[in-house]
Formats: sequence, structure tokens, C-alpha cells
Amino acid sequence: MNWYQFNEDQLEQKLGVRRDKGLSSLDVEKRLKKFGANVFADRKKISLWLVFLKQFQDFMVLVLLAATLVSGLLGEYVDAIAIMVIVLINGLIGFFQEQKAEKSLSKLKELSAPLANVLRNGRWDKIPSSEVVVGDIIKITSGDRVSADMRITKSSSLELEESALTGESLPTTKHATAITQDGLEPADQKNMAFMGTLVTRGSGIGIVVATGMKTAMGQIAELLVNTEQQVTPLERKLMELGKILILLALILTAFVVVIGVWQGHPIYNMFLAGVSLAVAAIPEGLPAIVTVALSLGVQRMIRKKAIVRKLSAVETLGSASVICSDKTGTMTENQMTVKQLYIRQRYVYVTGQGYDIKGDFQQSERNVNSEELEEMLLYGALCNHASLYRKKGKWMIDGDPTEGALLVAARKANITIEDTEKFKIIHEIPFDSDRKRMSVVVEDNQSNRFVVTKGAPDILLPRTNYIIDKEGRRPIRAKDQNSIEQAINDMADHALRTIAICIKPLEKSQAIDEIMLEKDLTFVGISGIIDPPRKEVKTAISECQEAGIKTVMITGDHAKTALAIAKQLDLIPEYGKVLEGHQLSKMTEEQLSTVIDDVYVFARVTPEHKLKIVKAFQRNGHVVAMTGDGVNDAPAIKASDIGISMGLSGTDVAKEASALVLLDDNFATIKSAIKEGRNIYENIRKFIRYLLASNVGEILVMLFAMLLGLPLPLIPVQILWVNLVTDGLPAMALGLDQAEGDVMKRSPRHPKEGVFARGLAFKIISRGFMIGIITLIAFMTAYQGDPDHLRYAQTIAFTTLVMAQLIHVFDCRSEKSVFSRNPFQNLYLVGAVISSILLLLMVLYLESLQEVFNTMDLGLRDWIFILALSSIPTVLFGFTKK
Ligand code: ATP
Repeated sequence: MNWYQFNEDQLEQKLGVRRDKGLSSLDVEKRLKKFGANVFADRKKISLWLVFLKQFQDFMVLVLLAATLVSGLLGEYVDAIAIMVIVLINGLIGFFQEQKAEKSLSKLKELSAPLANVLRNGRWDKIPSSEVVVGDIIKITSGDRVSADMRITKSSSLELEESALTGESLPTTKHATAITQDGLEPADQKNMAFMGTLVTRGSGIGIVVATGMKTAMGQIAELLVNTEQQVTPLERKLMELGKILILLALILTAFVVVIGVWQGHPIYNMFLAGVSLAVAAIPEGLPAIVTVALSLGVQRMIRKKAIVRKLSAVETLGSASVICSDKTGTMTENQMTVKQLYIRQRYVYVTGQGYDIKGDFQQSERNVNSEELEEMLLYGALCNHASLYRKKGKWMIDGDPTEGALLVAARKANITIEDTEKFKIIHEIPFDSDRKRMSVVVEDNQSNRFVVTKGAPDILLPRTNYIIDKEGRRPIRAKDQNSIEQAINDMADHALRTIAICIKPLEKSQAIDEIMLEKDLTFVGISGIIDPPRKEVKTAISECQEAGIKTVMITGDHAKTALAIAKQLDLIPEYGKVLEGHQLSKMTEEQLSTVIDDVYVFARVTPEHKLKIVKAFQRNGHVVAMTGDGVNDAPAIKASDIGISMGLSGTDVAKEASALVLLDDNFATIKSAIKEGRNIYENIRKFIRYLLASNVGEILVMLFAMLLGLPLPLIPVQILWVNLVTDGLPAMALGLDQAEGDVMKRSPRHPKEGVFARGLAFKIISRGFMIGIITLIAFMTAYQGDPDHLRYAQTIAFTTLVMAQLIHVFDCRSEKSVFSRNPFQNLYLVGAVISSILLLLMVLYLESLQEVFNTMDLGLRDWIFILALSSIPTVLFGFTKK
């Protein structure tokens, strides 16, 4: 027998689970041990040894190692060993950096892993999909990615898109009854939901029958393993730039070597010096440091509750010029409370806070209660998927907050689950943001059937022909419609979200036709629900404004509700416009783009409109961030420059389409992420500036010395040491630098702007040039043309170069003057500089190292001379802004 052939009792028995309780923790533990986690087997990991060896595959490093071997054979043991050790340490650092990047990337993957809604120990809970076991009872709803193969036991308009498995892109309707036929292909197993497929509509419950590699998808998983490595545009640009820099460094180094040989230096010396210089000057580590800086920045973002799914988003974040954000739940608390009811031409006010079930119904400040009120509240509770529960004395809801609010209101009138369970739900047309309504067909215990529809009042009103009042059900008149519209406007002006409740009696014999169900409705009343703005959003919006970023509200709510909230948030200026979905539908993308710059609120929109909004903004040259949570939001999220999804309320589909996930669904988190994105980019510019200026300095001092017919100012091991120590730690520390105070006061970076824009190239060349010159001056002053002074002069030149770089590193922290920032703010940098100085002192003063590095003790006067010289480039340029 196949799973799809079993009935529910057989399934329970076979899988050892109770439908009403789910598995117990003990069962789960045993099954996890027996069958393993619900994941596809990992592709083979590259061994750590290989990762380590990879660090040495760089061509110039290999040449250097070969050269070292030659020097070893020639008896230059000290040189050979020193170079070997330095190369080895360099390799180790590269290895650890790569491991760190790898680890943080896999941590990211874990954080954005999908969740499953599972019934265990009698309670529904969200757990990572990887922990799902055979026998688990799982609830799936529209937007979910199915986390294991399941036999469906309950289906409410459930539709799945199974193209990943069957190739069929049209959704399949799923039911819960056993199928008798034998030998069905997955595509025909209409009561099964397969791992990895998508729920496009409705909801359902199923029992897991297979996990991990045992699932239908697992069997073909080998073909699906995604090995694609993410390379961000910046990394790609740097890799390309790297190639040019390598060529440049090689040409200059060759030049140094040729001139040196021509000036009479021994070929062997020049060769080793040249290769060392090439190794030092080639910024081969740049892309790796960029990756590390990106992934460290991404970890800082996680602490601020933003998860980056696509590394490239970090760069794009810095260029964002428009944020299109959902209102409900992102700008507001998503803590909904019914405040007002409109029924039979009267307003009834509801007291109470949040989801607490304490509260009264009042008219003219007097408590009221009536049958019609209770009836309306009961309808709201029937057409409802949410549930109420108590945790640590506090009332909470499970499900859609709008529905939760209706449930709480009903509870305030003592309508409980016992009352709603007297009715049977025969059929359901689920809510979605396109339809803006939901309907259920209900049967009471006398077998009377009726439809309850709830939804946006302006959508339901045109479908309404009757109204209930004192005389009972009668045709609706223009006067009724006017006063209903008046009520909608009144409530919306007070920032209330409005939901109309309608019913329709049905004959039992009448066939269920979804189109007919929602026609000829009878109006019952309207609920006005408050959803207060989140406290931190107002400040976040004004900070974005200062940063040159426009915030736009997008909502399915009524225009007046949206406008009222937008005003509370200071989101919309005097001249700002509100555009409604029906107006948007009539516009072409081009027409929209001519007015869109003045629009701040889009109301009564459907997810399809979002795509048009993104495109129209992009047409005007904007870099657009767009939020979304539902299945239908995915196209707009994908089309935007930075797709953002909601960690709490978002569907798997929206999350998969997005580049950024907000763990707390909060607008303010987008602002923090943009700030962090801008900072990461600036930090990358900082260490590129530092590294390249250092390299320019190193090459130039050698080049000038050769041109002037001087001896080598730095010997190979010294050059390699500088590359390892001075260029290593401080550069990394720059990657961890704090944002400059005005990072959110500048306009967004132009998306086409290159890394070297805004004067960076000039800064690199001018500072590099100065570092080269002063090192040469230091060398010449100490050398005085006397070969006996050579070791002393090389020590002075080496120390000057190191100190000049260690001072210059502080200049790299700001686009402005070096004095504009407190040098002690970045303690990593201070630590890195102090460690580099300690290492320098060891090389200078430890006798054993003096031999290796060809150095000697320096006196106080030497130090005064060195420090004075090495501060020149920074002090000289530090005053200027360029
Ligand atoms: P966004 O997250 O994009 O801001 P929204 O919550 O503002 O979305 P929708 O969820 O599409 O917008 O809701 C639009 C309208 O549909 C609401 O104003 C309300 O009248 C109605 N509505 C919302 N939720 C439900 C529901 N569960 N059942 C019936 N109608 C609903």
C-alpha cells in the first residue's frame, strides 16, 4: 500500500501518532535518533588541509617559495627559513580568515532556514524544518514551503505548486480523502504534499510520512544541490581591479629589478627582493578581506535583527533611495484591538487593551449589550482562523492579528470557542490581499446553512443588497449606504482599520459555487480596529529623510486609515499625495513614474500593484527597497533592488525571494540595516585606501632607490614582514570601524559610483607617494653613501616605513580630516597598531631576530627622527579635506 491509499485511522496507527495531540517529545527524540534530521545529505566537504594548501597556490607565493629554496641551497639558511616562516604565517592567516567567512555564512543559512508549524505534546509550535520527524502533524498555509512529505488529512481550499518536483507550474488542488488506485505518480497523488513544493492558496494539515533523503525530493536531491558561490558586485569589481593591480605591481617590480641589476646589484639579490616586493605589493588578499568585512558586517546586522540572505544586498543598501514599506506590522505594532462597532446605524465603543479579554461595550459611556451585537461578534468569530490562549497570565493570539482582534471582541461579550463549535464549517474561501475578504459556509445544529463574509467594507458594499435592522432583513437603500460610507470614513479618519461583516442565508440543497457565495450579501455591521504605530518608526523615518531616503507606505487598508497613520508618523509632507489601488490600475508604468515622486502613501493596493510601484520608481533612477510578506509579494520583492521580507509574519516564498529578512518585522530595522550597509561599504573603502597606499609606498621607495643608484633600502624579509604585520592587522581592524557620525546625513551613494570615487584614488596615490618619499629620505639620511652604514640605514628605512603606515592608518578612518575622529574610538585598531609596534620592537631589539631581519638597536635620537618623518604624510594631508 502507498501512503495516499491509507485512511486517517490507518495513518495514525502506522505512524504511531495521535491526530489531536501529535508526537510527544520522547517520540520525537527517538525518531530523530533513528532517522536523522530532515535535511538533504551534505555534499562532500572540502578537507581543511586542502583549504590550507589553497592559500599557497598563488603564483607569486610559489615563485617566492622556489626562490627561497634556491637561497637555501645556496646556503642562505637564515633568509630561507625566515621567508618560509613568514609565508607560512601568511597562509595561516588566510586560512583562518576563510574559515571565519565560511562559518559566518553557514550561520546565516541556519538563521534563514524555514520553520514548520508542528503539533507536538498537544500544542502548535514553530520549529526549524530540519527537526521535523516522521509522524509529525504539520499545518501548512498559503506561502509555506512544505517541509517534508506528508499525507494531507485536512484541506481548506488547499492548492500546491509542485513544479520543482513534477514540472507542472499550475497549482494542483489537494484534498484529504484516501485514493484507492495503485501506482500513482507524485503529480497524481492529490492527497499528498511533497517536501519543497509551495502552498499557493488555502491551508491544510498533514501527517509526515517521509523526511530528508527519503522524501520524493530527496531522491532527486543530488541534482538540486546548490553549489553556486555568492560573489557580490563589489567583490567582482575588486577581482577585476586586482588583475590590473597585479599587472601594475609586476611591471613596476620588474622595473625595479631591471634597474637594480643595471646599477650593478647582484642578480640573485635583486631577484629575491623583486619577488618579495611583488608578493607584498600585490593586493591578492583584497577580495578575501572584503568578504570578511562583509560577513562581519552581516553579523553586526544580525545583532540588529536584520538577516542578509544575499551578500550583494549589503552594498546595495548603501545606495537605497526609496523604501517602500508595508504599513501593517512593519510600521505598526500589528497588535490589533477592536475599538468601535457600527451596527444598525449606531456606534458602539469597545473598551480594553490589546488582546486582553477584559472590556465592555459602551454607548454614550453606558454599558450596552444586545442580541444583534452578540450576533455580529459571533459572525466575526466564525469567519476566523485565529485562536486565543493564555501564557504566563497574559492573553495572546495565534494567527492573523485582525482575526485575533475580532475573537477578543467576541470574548468580551462572553462568546467562547464552545459557542463557535456549535457550528460546522462546510466550506471556506480564504482571505488574501487581492480579494481583501474571506468567506465561510456555516451550518448550525438545525442544519441551517449560511455564509459569513468579512472584508474591506468598500469591497463588500457593492456585493451587498440587504441590510439587517429592527424589522429584520430588508433591501438596502441609498440612505443606508450613505450612512455606512459615513461610518467607514469616520472610523478611517481615526486611523481605524475597518472590516465589514456580512451574511447570506443558503438552502441546504444549493450547490456551493464560490462566485455566488459572495453575491447578494446582507450587511450586518463594521468593526473598527486600531493598530498603533510602532514607537521607533517615527524617528527612523525622519533619520531616513535626513539620509536622503524617501519612505513610502504601502497598504491594503483604506486610504483614510493609511493617511491618518502616515500623519502620525510624519511620513507625508504637505504636498504629499495618496494614490489608491483603483487609480494605480488605470495608469501605465510610465504615467505612474511621472507622478510617483510626489506620492507617499499607496492605499487599497494589491500585491500586483507593488511590482508597478517598484518599476516606476526604478524608471526614475531610484534604488528601491521593497518589503513584503505574502506569496503574491514575491515578484515585487524580486524586482526591487533590495527585497525585504518579514521574519515573523513572512511566508517562506517571500523570504526566499528577499535579500534581507527583518527578524522583528520592524521598519526601524531597515533603517539600521541601511546604516550598517553604508558603514560596511565605507569600511571597505577605508582598508582599500590603507592597503593600496601602503603598497604604493613600498614599491616607490624601492623604485626611487634603484633609480638613484642606491643600495636596496629594504631587504626581502623586511618587505615580507611589512606585508604580514603592518598591512595585515590594522587593515582588518579598519574593516571593523564604527560608522562616521554623519553616515546617515549624506545622500545615498550613486549605484554606479566606483570604489575609488570621491577622491579615494588621489588619497591613495598622494599618501603612498609621500610614504615612499619619506622612507627614502630616512634611508638616504642614515646611509650617507657609506656602505658601513647600510644595515643601520635599512633599519631606519624599515622602521620609518612601518611607523608611517601605522600613523597613516588613522587618517584612513575618515573621509574628512584625520583630526575629525577620536583615534581611541576603534579599540581594535588601537590594539592592532600596538601589537604591530610590539612586533616591530622585537624585530629591532631581540638579538636573534636582528640576525634574521638585518636590523640593529636604535637610539632615542633615531626614534625622534623616525617619528618626525613618519608623521609628515598624515599631518601634511590630515589638515586638508582631500
Ligand atoms: P500590508 O501588510 O501590505 O500593510 P494590510 O494589512 O494593510 O497589508 P491587507 O492585509 O491586504 O492589507 O488588508 C486589506 C484589507 O482587507 C483590510 O483593510 C481589511 O479591511 C481587510 N482584511 C484584512 N485582514 C482580513 C481578514 N483576515 N479577513 C477579512 N478581511 C480582512
